[in-house]
Amino acid sequence: MPVATHPVIAAALQQGRTLLSELEAKQVLHDLGIATTLPQLATSAEEAVRLAEAIGYPVVLKVSSPDVVHKSDVGGVRLQLRNGAEVQQAFQDICHQVSQRLPAARLEGVTVQRMAPPGVEVIVGMTTDATFGPVLMFGLGGVLVELLQDVAFRIVPLTPRDAAEMLREIKGFPLLQGYRGTPPADLAALESLLLTLSDFVQRTPQVREIDLNPVYAYPQGALAVDARMVLAASPSP
Ligand code: ADP
Ligand code: MG
Repeated sequence: MPVATHPVIAAALQQGRTLLSELEAKQVLHDLGIATTLPQLATSAEEAVRLAEAIGYPVVLKVSSPDVVHKSDVGGVRLQLRNGAEVQQAFQDICHQVSQRLPAARLEGVTVQRMAPPGVEVIVGMTTDATFGPVLMFGLGGVLVELLQDVAFRIVPLTPRDAAEMLREIKGFPLLQGYRGTPPADLAALESLLLTLSDFVQRTPQVREIDLNPVYAYPQGALAVDARMVLAASPSP
């Protein structure tokens, strides 16, 4: 099947890698027109400060390593950094923590990205089912998804109606409609995110898993603040 693959995906496959870093996954999202906090890689504390000054404070620093999947579990995420001194300290803390907790991890560096304003936390995912092929998942983020398994699934390709139903069938939907004075989330933006991903995975069989956790839903728009993609070593038939 002829597939025009994103260069980031093509490069990873050529190097025999199946896990895209947050940086790489967000580059792909960005090119799909999905709003994200695009990170930049720093390999020294000074470089991290330079990037932060260009991005504008507050910023977030995160470990970048092919051996770290859950970055905060190893002390690899620092939020709400307001100045150069805090960025410098955070860079050193992250390198120290990760090397203490995962001595064998290969450290590419530390990424710098803008700090997103708080929104309703949701997660959007894709897994590949042995029978049904790619399946999209939508749920509320945080405790709700972990504790209550409050998620909706649809087989790719999604219709606009599928996307609309996915949002509305989760138990936590009232939180997206506006709850106790919080404004309603932009449902159209979330539906459009689901449809864009559906289209992307349908065109790109090399992608086996996508994990956008969390996505922040706002009164206007939605923003992917963390991203991960897993590729198949060879395209599925
Ligand atoms: P992990 O690999 O541990 O899932 P994340 O990138 O999701 O790491 O970061 C952990 C948490 O930090 C997120 O769940 C989110 O609450 C917060 N966070 C991460 N990036 C940003 C950002 N750019 N702006 C605001 N909050 C963020
Ligand atoms: Mg995350």
